Amino acid sequence: MVEIRLVRVGQVNPGVLDFLCVALPDSLGLECRVFDQAIDVSGAYNPARHQYNSIEILLRMSALDTRPGVKLLGLTRHDLFIPILTFVFGQAQLNNRNAVMSVHRLHQSYYGLPDDEDLFLSRCEKEALHELGHTFGLVHCRDFECVMYLSNAIDQVDLKSNGFCESCRGLLELASQA
Ligand SMILES: [Zn+2]
Ligand SMILES: [Zn+2]
Repeated sequence: MVEIRLVRVGQVNPGVLDFLCVALPDSLGLECRVFDQAIDVSGAYNPARHQYNSIEILLRMSALDTRPGVKLLGLTRHDLFIPILTFVFGQAQLNNRNAVMSVHRLHQSYYGLPDDEDLFLSRCEKEALHELGHTFGLVHCRDFECVMYLSNAIDQVDLKSNGFCESCRGLLELASQA
């Protein structure tokens, strides 16, 4: 049976870990706990961009030892990038074990608005499901309400639901029971 482990990547908001350990089993039907080892992000820092390279973080996560069937979702409050993009909400290895997401741009205060904890956690859940979906082999979906829809901006995150469309749900269930 597949199980999810949340990996602390540099600094993490503990409230997000607690929330996802409840929310992810509800929506995925899979057990979720915090992994006992954390990832040091200092080597992934890019001083010119003041951001952390998510490719470097995924490389470090790849070195972690788990039993087969575990999916690792790294969580960080640091802003992430890949060299061709100004930022990423997260990144995943398609049909593989590791994914990482940042909560940095999921706070309303990042956009100069008053913070809203419920909205923040709902965004965290969508991004977590999206990146984990990739680890189960799901690609981007054309249904804008499906959580696998590609979001390049926060309004696109808010537009989609926290659930998979029928087609993505079917693929996910096949992959997670394998
Ligand atoms: Zn994606
Ligand atoms: Zn879909």
